[in-house]
Amino acid sequence: MSKKTSNKVKDKNLKERHNFFLNPYEDCAFTKCPKCEAKTKIRKFPLVIHIEPQQLFFLNKQCKYCPTCDLIIAKKQEIESLMAFGLSQSHPKIIGNKYVVIGTVDKKDWKEGSQESLSPAEIIERTYIFQDIWNFEVIPAGWYPKGEQ
Ligand SMILES: [Zn+2]
Repeated sequence: MSKKTSNKVKDKNLKERHNFFLNPYEDCAFTKCPKCEAKTKIRKFPLVIHIEPQQLFFLNKQCKYCPTCDLIIAKKQEIESLMAFGLSQSHPKIIGNKYVVIGTVDKKDWKEGSQESLSPAEIIERTYIFQDIWNFEVIPAGWYPKGEQ
């Protein structure tokens, strides 16, 4: 049994890009970056999600993005409902399984991948995993980074 608790995929051969925050707060849209307080932009990112036991899922999703921090913020709730919708035809049994948003791919790779012409190994090869996964805790007076960033 693996005891890995980190949600970051560590592999020297993988390319890295962007920081990521999976926003668990339904009522917090993060129109400002939780780290630098700059206004966030809205941008679409082709996200790569690994769903247990072994399924890769692409989601071209509108996210909040801070260019200064290179931080992508995606709403957990939205990802989960889009995932459930996307899987309801092809893989209904794995809906609700544990998943990790591992990174992003380029638009062209997303197109190929979503047509299922890429094998999982090819997808991983083209995936830019996140440099870092950040967590922010929202408290009534504002927000604070969880631990040292
Ligand atoms: Zn920022």
